[in-house]
Amino acid sequence: MTNRRHFLIAAGLLPLLHPAFADNRRVVIVGGGWGGLAAARHLRQLAPALEVTLVDRQPAFLSFALSNRWLVEPGAAPWARHDYAKLARTFGYRYVQAEVTAVDLARRSLATTAGALPYDWLVLSPGIREDWSAWQVNDAPTVAELRRRHSGAMLSAADLPALKQRLANFKGGDLLMTIPPAPYRCPPAPYERAMFIAWWLKTRNIPGRLIIADPNPLMPAFRNILLDRYKDEVTYLDHAKVRSVDMGRKTVSTDIDEIRFDEAMLCPPQQAAELLWQAGLIRAEEGGKPSGWAAQGAIDFRSAADGRVFVIGDATGLVSPQFGYFPKTGQVANRMGQAVARQIAAQASGQAPAVLLPESVCHVTTSVDPLESTRIDTSYRDRGDGFLVQTVKQTRNPQPSGEDAAWAEAMYRDFLLP
Ligand SMILES: Cc1cc2nc3c(=O)[nH]c(=O)nc-3n(C[C@H](O)[C@H](O)[C@H](O)COP(=O)(O)OP(=O)(O)OC[C@H]3O[C@@H](n4cnc5c(N)ncnc54)[C@H](O)[C@@H]3O)c2cc1C
Repeated sequence: MTNRRHFLIAAGLLPLLHPAFADNRRVVIVGGGWGGLAAARHLRQLAPALEVTLVDRQPAFLSFALSNRWLVEPGAAPWARHDYAKLARTFGYRYVQAEVTAVDLARRSLATTAGALPYDWLVLSPGIREDWSAWQVNDAPTVAELRRRHSGAMLSAADLPALKQRLANFKGGDLLMTIPPAPYRCPPAPYERAMFIAWWLKTRNIPGRLIIADPNPLMPAFRNILLDRYKDEVTYLDHAKVRSVDMGRKTVSTDIDEIRFDEAMLCPPQQAAELLWQAGLIRAEEGGKPSGWAAQGAIDFRSAADGRVFVIGDATGLVSPQFGYFPKTGQVANRMGQAVARQIAAQASGQAPAVLLPESVCHVTTSVDPLESTRIDTSYRDRGDGFLVQTVKQTRNPQPSGEDAAWAEAMYRDFLLP
């Protein structure tokens, strides 16, 4: 095969209809998050003849979007849940509630707690795992206990109600929030959460302060509000990469400080979900060290190890020498789900798929009183030689009027609503 043809196939730009695919009808999607739900819904629509099975260990989808305000809103309605069984009935795909424990690429089969699941195409959208070993915590019971007591609720939105309850119980003292080193999911989310918590401490007269341990540069849209307006409520520690945690003494250590806390939202470094490590689908850096994230195409999201396997969403790895990673947002995961649905549907019917590149719009609240927000638009174009160019535009909105809720509703119409 020529290099050019190989590249076009790898990029999903040429049909790859091997005769062996002709009767291949089984698509299995692991992970019912923003990526997996979009893939399932769009595949059902685009390729009614395919069998589409969604597997998730959880019984329901919960969204992270708009959760930061909800966390500190007294009397807020319970956080919305969307049962997978109902979504599956609505859209006509099959749902299996199970833990996927292994991927057998050679046999094209998943090992799950509900038995083996053979596939012809596999879409992996399993999200992230937290790397507690980077903080010298290596045993599962201690990780479970740290998560129970002090989770920052960035791994699973199912953890949000418990975090809300912990905040409601916080009556004062030092409240620590650690930010993971980039890349991590939803880059502005920790700063927006910090702003809401600072506002809540101030307006409720809670005698506490929020200590932010941040290894990344502070997002400019939050500089004034966190460092000036809420200077009595916030202590911001820059270059603060956590090295270890001591649950008994309630401290974390960075290279510079030992930080004591009364309550904490601990967010260790993030990596691609466990399943991708098990399946051997993690990209190696130069020198062979694992990068922590998957190896997949930048345009077609096919795994480097197997063209029948797609990796989408937050688990995806390096895509560009220019900008590194796609932003780990729900909207990017959703677009990737749509893109792989188009590719599989086209491939199953012997057609060339149209390319659909990621894009993301993010409405971030930067001040509560007066209400202000910033809109972050991220888009991509193919330079023509397989390399992508990223454009990021930030626009200040001094008078928001529900753009964030309208955005979320439009997104949910794509994969949650009939
Ligand atoms: C606080 C916060 C606020 C955010 N706000 C926004 C926002 O406003 N807008 C936005 O676009 N994005 C936002 N995001 C980011 C968004 O939530 C993520 O980008 C999105 O969830 C990624 O989708 P995903 O499909 O990759 O993974 P996930 O949504 O994490 O889904 C992964 C699924 O896979 C399942 N799973 C994993 N492994 C297995 C296994 N082995 N067996 C069975 N099931 C498995 C999990 O149970 C889970 O349901 C926010 C994130 C956070 C933390």
